[in-house]
Amino acid sequence: MEKREQLYEGKAKKVFLTDDPDLLIVSYKDDATAFDGQKKGTIVGKGAINNRMTNHIFRLLEKEGVPTHLVEELNDRETLVKKVEIVPLEVIIRNFSAGSFAKKLGMEEGIKLACPTLEFSYKNDDLHDPFINSYYALALNLATQEEIDAITKYAFTVNDVMREYFAGLGIELIDFKIEFGRYHGQIILADEVSPDTCRLWDKETHEKLDKDRFRRDLGNVEDAYQEVFRRLGIQ
Ligand code: ADP
Ligand code: UDP
Repeated sequence: MEKREQLYEGKAKKVFLTDDPDLLIVSYKDDATAFDGQKKGTIVGKGAINNRMTNHIFRLLEKEGVPTHLVEELNDRETLVKKVEIVPLEVIIRNFSAGSFAKKLGMEEGIKLACPTLEFSYKNDDLHDPFINSYYALALNLATQEEIDAITKYAFTVNDVMREYFAGLGIELIDFKIEFGRYHGQIILADEVSPDTCRLWDKETHEKLDKDRFRRDLGNVEDAYQEVFRRLGIQ
């Protein structure tokens, strides 16, 4: 597989074309941003951890019937993936109150929800990813009803699989964000699943093992990413 020109540079990853029009190479960076890119920094080693963790979780999800963009891990930072048309929805699942949910509803963080929730944000940096519902998504032609149904079904499966898997590692899956894409007419899971996109708390101590350490200046940011990676047992 030949790496061709850069298609896109995002906040956390670079995306390259390849000699196959159906495939891309994603390259994970150590760059970290928060609050719409207002806060910038580096988390040393993050790129490799997020790349390898995403691929590990995506392999697990494939086994459980969730199609993903994963083709082949090329090296520590780079992975060959199916080139999708990203559905411009950030799909957020929550098991416990935290972050914007806790703030909006005047709740403490870490309260177990009676059942998992799903919400959409319109993936649009200029508008700061506003909260929308499925009617808005349909009205704005962001996705079809069939696509929303597939996304919803897969998202809850991702939650079931990841919750159980992380529980086995002594980690509570508080919430997470995922993205889906269209590949030859099918909805598949794309982008990443990592401590950048999930809230992961130690089950016993409730210590935060995710990007909130960076967002909130809690210290030991690298250690937290390393600790999650260590528990995955894929060194
Ligand atoms: P952002 O764009 O939010 O700064 P990243 O730095 O992670 O995010 O950039 C990666 C970009 O690549 C994102 O916009 C994501 O939606 C997109 N992407 C992820 N997986 C794929 C894929 N398989 N095909 C096409 N685009 C993808
Ligand atoms: N999230 C993300 N990217 C975003 C917004 C949120 O990966 O642009 C993740 C975040 O890490 C958390 C979950 O989605 O795991 C829910 O985030 P929330 O809505 O609480 O927003 P935040 O408090 O991070 O602003």
